[in-house]
Amino acid sequence: MSDFAIGVDLGGTSLRVAVVEDKGTLLEKLTLSTKVLRGPERVVAAMCDSIAALQTRYKSNGKMMGIGVGVPGIIDLHTGVLRESPNLPGWHDYPVLQEIEHRLGTRVILENDANVGAMGEYWLGAGRGYDSMFMYTLGTGIGGGIVFEGAIWHGMTGMAGEPGHTTIEPKGPPCACGNRGCLEQFAGATAVIRMAKEAIAEGHAPKLKREVDNGQELNPQLVYKLATQGDKASRAIYRTVGEALGISVASMINVLNLPIFVIGGGVAGAWEAFSPYIFEEVRKRSFVYNATAPPEGERIAPGCTHITHALLGADSGLYGAARLPMLPEERKAHSTNARSSSRAL
Ligand SMILES: [Zn+2]
Repeated sequence: MSDFAIGVDLGGTSLRVAVVEDKGTLLEKLTLSTKVLRGPERVVAAMCDSIAALQTRYKSNGKMMGIGVGVPGIIDLHTGVLRESPNLPGWHDYPVLQEIEHRLGTRVILENDANVGAMGEYWLGAGRGYDSMFMYTLGTGIGGGIVFEGAIWHGMTGMAGEPGHTTIEPKGPPCACGNRGCLEQFAGATAVIRMAKEAIAEGHAPKLKREVDNGQELNPQLVYKLATQGDKASRAIYRTVGEALGISVASMINVLNLPIFVIGGGVAGAWEAFSPYIFEEVRKRSFVYNATAPPEGERIAPGCTHITHALLGADSGLYGAARLPMLPEERKAHSTNARSSSRAL
């Protein structure tokens, strides 16, 4: 017998639902074939059917502690409405929380996907054992999450933890957010692909060009593969990724003085190729880091600043979403404005 919660990870391309015990064991994971792009009503209906089925299946297992749902985009914490989601076209201003709660007849906790990813890593991954944590999620773009003393830091309106849109290069490439030279323009998957295309167009990347001409898809994995084989152009791209991240991490360390900064998301799979440049930049730019760098090889050194990669891969969001209803009241949200539903379970 063990109590459990249900976590949902609603991604731009897939929908996953999992049952997770309060000790962190994943009991079952469903990947639904429902196409997210087919519109919110169908997706929410399929999601709720799966939740209800899992709830019934594990009813004798222990107490059902609640349901947490991670969604990509900006959520209005007061109303549970999805304000903006570049990865979910057609969901703009959709009352996602209300619809889920209406169908299930119970309260659920809605959270931004990067925040649940951070909570998952904090609970069972790279952040385990630390008091607070900052996480970068390098996906198509760059998300982020701050776990501060065990709770997600939402800020005033739920928009805190967006390192992807802080400036790295004042006159850099324009970003969809309206700024120029955002971190996202140098370190997300879209950025890696853009830099690779530019290098090919400028004639600097003959090996990349050959792979693409042979039908290989130009993506961060291909650039990483060539980088590990010593290809100069590919290595230079990941050098840019690492330097941009290092500039950002150095600033965050100086501002927040947190014990751990975690780099996750798909592009973080190329950690070996870009991480040396993160450390190089951070040592150059952060006096707080230089005063608190950990001794070589120590995972948790008290009073030290750790920079590392995520451990849970694509499942971090599922674990984090399931963790939300398990948290004690005072850790459910770090915002006086947080929606009351998170207190109703
Ligand atoms: Zn931006």
